Amino acid sequence: MGREKKEKIKGSALSVSRGVDQPPSVNPEVVKRIKNQKRKSFSAGEFSSKILEGNITFLSKAITLVESSRQDHYEEAQQIIERCLPYSGNSIRIGITGVPGAGKSTFIETLGKRITGLGRKLAVLAIDPSSERSHGSILGDKTRMESLASDPNAFIRPSPSAGSLGGVARKTRESIILCEAAGFDTIFVETVGVGQSETLVHSMVDFFLLLMISGAGDELQGIKKGVLELADGIAINKADKDNIRAVETARRDLETAMHLIRPETPTWTPKVLTCSSITQGGTDAVWAMVLDHHEKFKTSGEF
Ligand code: GDP
Repeated sequence: MGREKKEKIKGSALSVSRGVDQPPSVNPEVVKRIKNQKRKSFSAGEFSSKILEGNITFLSKAITLVESSRQDHYEEAQQIIERCLPYSGNSIRIGITGVPGAGKSTFIETLGKRITGLGRKLAVLAIDPSSERSHGSILGDKTRMESLASDPNAFIRPSPSAGSLGGVARKTRESIILCEAAGFDTIFVETVGVGQSETLVHSMVDFFLLLMISGAGDELQGIKKGVLELADGIAINKADKDNIRAVETARRDLETAMHLIRPETPTWTPKVLTCSSITQGGTDAVWAMVLDHHEKFKTSGEF
């Protein structure tokens, strides 16, 4: 109401009070603080010392820089990685692959909980080559591994693949370094088992695990023959309920198939095991296989 009008009313029984200004709906102090936070950038030294303290927020931010396609982010990421590099390389790195629906996330959650229960710190990195098309990571759904995501000893990082698969591999390799520097002693790298990315991931992990299901031929499972050759171990999943016999048959068939593949080294013959995330049967055996492989390779000096 205009001042003039208000003054006219003054003195009359119909006087209207001026009212108060509406307060802003968002506290301006909070807005200011958020803006300042956004503006605050950290040096590579600050980043690396926070990562070495095991600070997950900084680890996540650093991986975001690693994955960024911006040149300034790339340079910053390289400086952070350089500082973290001397503290890396102390983990067991396991590549886990299998087609969608094979039960990877359920398996990772089951095994992951057991591993953290043993006092280990687990980082899970996921590579999803299909995200290029879907414009979002199908593996980005953290609810797939809900209880692991809330485990203080686990860190889950879904990474949509940006650009070429070679780029994915470089970024994953660098993310692994950052996770190791942050104190993670077990690293899972999850891929969807369709071919190219497996070869690259195979080159950066200690153990390559292929998760399969029974009742479907290799072709139906979308697993390329080359991927079988990369496997240090195969776990046929969903060995439970009415499926147990089919899984056992598949295990024998795969064992025969694996015998035809010449092992990469005399130190290790790939094994074919069965497991179930429902009954949790076989999960410990899979982990024991990974540890056995690790010991043998450490002894032989092949790592
Ligand atoms: P991913 O796409 O490979 O990550 O597969 P998911 O972990 O999402 O599992 C796919 C489906 O298989 C889900 O419906 C799970 O509940 C089911 N599943 C996973 N593990 C097992 C298992 O050990 N036994 C049985 N019977 N079902 C399972």
